[in-house]
Amino acid sequence: MEEGVLRVENLSKWFTIRRGLLAPPLTLRAVDNVSFELRRGEAVSLVGESGSGKTTLGKTVLRLYEPTSGRILFKGRDVTNLKGKELLWYKRETGLVQQDPYGAMPSFMTISRILEEPLIIHKIGTAEERKEAVFKALEDVRLTPVEDFAFKYPHMLSGGQLQRVAIARALILGPSFVVADEPVSMLDASVRIEILTLMRELQEKRGISFIYITHDLSTTRYFSEWIFIMYAGHLVEKAPTKELIREPQHPYTQALLAAIPDPDPENRKRYREVPPGEPPSLINPPPGCRFHPRCPYVMDVCRSEEPPVVEVKPGHYVKCWLYAKK
Ligand code: SF4
Repeated sequence: MEEGVLRVENLSKWFTIRRGLLAPPLTLRAVDNVSFELRRGEAVSLVGESGSGKTTLGKTVLRLYEPTSGRILFKGRDVTNLKGKELLWYKRETGLVQQDPYGAMPSFMTISRILEEPLIIHKIGTAEERKEAVFKALEDVRLTPVEDFAFKYPHMLSGGQLQRVAIARALILGPSFVVADEPVSMLDASVRIEILTLMRELQEKRGISFIYITHDLSTTRYFSEWIFIMYAGHLVEKAPTKELIREPQHPYTQALLAAIPDPDPENRKRYREVPPGEPPSLINPPPGCRFHPRCPYVMDVCRSEEPPVVEVKPGHYVKCWLYAKK
């Protein structure tokens, strides 16, 4: 088996919320004790409802947020506490595509300048070489003829075109690991598959390890080898994509699948839909299993003790008392 590019061990990211001089600060446990591994060229879809901690996990792994505890190992190096030049090395090896391409781009810069910026920061190439790299990057994301796009400003492009620029910017330094955070959720339905297909092509061609963050389980089957399901700061299920879609084990994953419109009513009926309600507050999460207030299979133990992670089949992990040996 090929050595993992990325290994995340018991990673947590908690935020302190200050409430003035008199009230004690609160702790928001956005990511709590998360572990996983990613091999070279593998894509993972990280799925969960809004507020489940997906974006925080992605940004913490990229070291855009400081981890509270745990370790991040990248290509065998511990990058959890890198600083200065060494952190710059990690930044060069990683990339981020954000949800809102307009918000993520400086509106006063041309597309060409936006793409050149990472090369300047990392002191790569002469002006002429950088121009070549920018044009090549635009070609790679199929914004051609490149002269028609290079000298425009972000507001002159459509959402889909600008998300292609965002992908080009994330890839221009030749990273080995990229996080794409809801990259198509703000785009018209007509261009979503196009953008996902482009990302998948580039990811496969360049052997990039990828985390695709989404709330939409229905888009993942085309994009990733693995699916990780996140609920209230915990990873509750990890499995190969086909297996997770065919045989979801965690009650929350089953509920997510039951909610996807499926032309075959028999498929829809296979699982119980999640009872109404919101994911819990991450400031004061429920004890035991965080899903227990909404779970149709809740048992006494679920209300008081955190469930263990159980490997139900090789490579298929579930955090649930239903699968723990009694
Ligand atoms: Fe439901 Fe209990 Fe499993 Fe949580 S641990 S998902 S409450 S059965």
